[in-house]
Amino acid sequence: MDRGVVIVGAGQAGFQTALSLRNEGYAGKIALIDDEGRVPYARPPLSKAYLKGTATAESLEYRPAEFFVQQSLDLVLNDPAVEIDRGRQTVALRSGRELEWSSLVLATGAHVRRLPSLGKEPSYLRTFADSESLRSHLSGSGSLLAIGCGFIGLEAAAAARAQGKQVRVIGAEARLMGRAVSPFISAWFHALHERHGVEIQLNTAVQGVSETSAVLPDGTVETADTVVVGIGVIPNTELAAKANLAVSGGIVTDSYLRTTDPAIFAVGDCAMHPNVYAGGLTRIESVQNAADHARAVASTISGRPKEYRQVPWFWTEQFEAKLQIAGLAVEADETEVKGDPESGKFSVYSYKAGKLKFVESVNQPAAHIAARKLLEI
Ligand code: NAP
Repeated sequence: MDRGVVIVGAGQAGFQTALSLRNEGYAGKIALIDDEGRVPYARPPLSKAYLKGTATAESLEYRPAEFFVQQSLDLVLNDPAVEIDRGRQTVALRSGRELEWSSLVLATGAHVRRLPSLGKEPSYLRTFADSESLRSHLSGSGSLLAIGCGFIGLEAAAAARAQGKQVRVIGAEARLMGRAVSPFISAWFHALHERHGVEIQLNTAVQGVSETSAVLPDGTVETADTVVVGIGVIPNTELAAKANLAVSGGIVTDSYLRTTDPAIFAVGDCAMHPNVYAGGLTRIESVQNAADHARAVASTISGRPKEYRQVPWFWTEQFEAKLQIAGLAVEADETEVKGDPESGKFSVYSYKAGKLKFVESVNQPAAHIAARKLLEI
C-alpha cells in the first residue's frame, strides 16, 4: 500500500517536487514540510528586486496558499522534521507530529556560512526574513559593506548602489565570482561595478564582523552603516547523517537522486549527485539544479524512473547586466568572445581540450538558450 510522499524542505526543490508529482499524475498523499512559516517562495529576488524594493512579498510566492489546498498538498508550516525512522518509514516533526511515507524526499537546502561575530550580528542573506531585515537596515543607512565577492555580495552591492548608498565589497578571492565564471567575465563585472561607483577590495579574507564593522587580516577595521556577509553556504545534512545515510559534502545520491536508502531521495542544494557535466559527484547551488532534480525524482516516484542529466545553467543580475551561464565553469585552455563587450551584449565561449565546456552570455538571452543546446551531452 502506498503511504504517500513526504518532502522535507519547501524551498525551490521541495516545492517543485510536490508540483511535479501532481503534474505526473501522482494521486497519493503528499506532505511538504517547511521550517520558515511561509508559503513556498522564490529566493532569487531576495538579493535583487526584493532588496531594491521593486518586488512585493506576494510576488515571490510560487503559488497562493489556496493552491496547496486545491492540489491536496499538505503544506506543514513552521514545523521542521527532526528525525527519520527508516525502519518504520516515518518522519518526526518538532511538534511531535509523525508522518508516514513510502518515498521520502530530502530537499533540506543549505544554511549560510558565518564569520566570527565581534558583537551584534551583521546581515546574512538566505531567507525571506533575512532579506526583509537587510532591506530595513539599508533604508536607514548611507553605506553598505558587502563581505564576499560571490553572487550574494555583488547582487546586494548592486541593489544598494541603485538606491544611492555608498558601497564597498571585500572578498577573499582574486577575482569576482571566481568559482562560477571565467576570468574575462570577472574582469568585465569588476569594471561594471567600478563604473557604478562600487569600491572593490580582493584577496582579503575577513576575520570577524559585527553589525557595522569588519576586521581585515592586517587588523584594520572597516566600518559601514550596514554590513552584509555572503561567503557561501553549508548543505543541511544533519537529518540524513542521523538516519545513517551516506553524507560527504552533501547527501550522497546515485544518478536517480536516490540516497543509500532507495526509498529516500535528495534534491537541490543538499544533494551530492553524479553529474555528467561535472564528470563525477558534485553539489550545485542553483534554481535549475533544484527544479530539474525535483522533476526527475517526481517522475521516478510516479513509476517512470528518470536519471538526472540536465545541462546546468545559472544567472545573475547586477546593474544593467544580466549574465546567464550555461555549463559548469572550468579552467579553460581557449576562450572566444562573440559580440561586443563594450556594448554590454556579448558571449564568452570557453573550451578545454577542444571541447566547449561553458558559455557566458551578457544581455544575450538567445545565445544562452542556444548554448544550452550546444552543451547537451
Ligand atoms: P558564493 O557564491 O559561494 O561566494 C562566496 C564568496 O565569499 C567567495 O568568493 C569566497 O571566496 C568569499 N569568501 C569566503 N570567505 C570569505 C571571507 N572570510 N572574507 C571575504 N570573502 C570570503 O556564495 P554566496 O555569494 O554567499 O551565495 C550563497 C548561495 O546563494 C550560493 O548557493 C549561491 O549560488 C546562491 N546565490 C545564487 C545567486 C545566483 O545564482 N544569481 C544569487 C544569490 C545567491 P573563496 O571562494 O576564496 O572562499
